Amino acid sequence: MDSSSGGCGSGAPSEPPSTTTATTSPTITVTTVQPEGSSPPPAPPSRYESQKRRDWNTFLQYLQNHKPPLTLVRCSGAHVIEFLKYLDQFGKTKVHVSGCPYFGHPNPPAPCACPLKQAWGSLDALIGRLRAAYEENGGRPESNPFGAKAVRIYLREVREGQAKARGIPYEKKKRKRTTVTVSAVSSSGVGGGNDDSGGGNGGASDNTGGGTTATTTTNVSTATTTTV
Ligand SMILES: [Zn+2]
Repeated sequence: MDSSSGGCGSGAPSEPPSTTTATTSPTITVTTVQPEGSSPPPAPPSRYESQKRRDWNTFLQYLQNHKPPLTLVRCSGAHVIEFLKYLDQFGKTKVHVSGCPYFGHPNPPAPCACPLKQAWGSLDALIGRLRAAYEENGGRPESNPFGAKAVRIYLREVREGQAKARGIPYEKKKRKRTTVTVSAVSSSGVGGGNDDSGGGNGGASDNTGGGTTATTTTNVSTATTTTV
C-alpha cells in the first residue's frame, strides 16, 4: 500500500528549461525532459491483474481470520481446499443434491432447496490467479499450496460432481457409427519364399486416422461471477 516512491531529489540538477530557439526555423522543437527515474509509467492494471490482487487480498484476509491463526508459510493444499469450501457460501450456482428430483436437469422447471455453490469454472480460474499471485509475492513454486496435488484433485471432483448434478455434459463424445473395416490382416504368415513385394496394401488408404477425437471439455459455465 505505502508505495514509497523514492524521491531523493536533493541533488536534482535544476536547470531551467531554456528553449533557445535561436535558429531561424519557426518550428519550436520542444524537448521533453525525462526525469531521472522516480516516475513509473502509469500503466493501468488489467482486469485480470486487478482481479488477481483482489483475490490475493481476500485470501490473506481469510488467513488472518483463520482459527487457529494461519500464516502463509504454513498454508497447505488442505487449507486452500478449506478456503474454496468457505467460498461456496457466496456462490450462485445451483448444485442439486443426489436426492433432488432435478438432479441432472440442466433447466429445472421449478425451484428447489438445493444449495448454491461456486461454479467449478470460477474456482478453477480463482486458483489460477492465486497460484500466480503466490509466486509474485515471493512464494516458492515448489511450495505453492495452490498448485498442490490435493487441490487439483479437489477441483476435478467438483467439476465432475457439478457436471452430473447440473446435467452439463462436459465431455462431448460423438459416437459416429463408421464402419471401420480394419484390415489388420498382417501378412506375417506368408511362407511364400522370398518374394517381398512390399506386401499388404491394406489400410493404407484411410489417412483420417481415428485418433483425432478432440476431447474438448467445453464446460460451459455461465454466470460464473466470482464474487469474492
Ligand atoms: Zn435441486
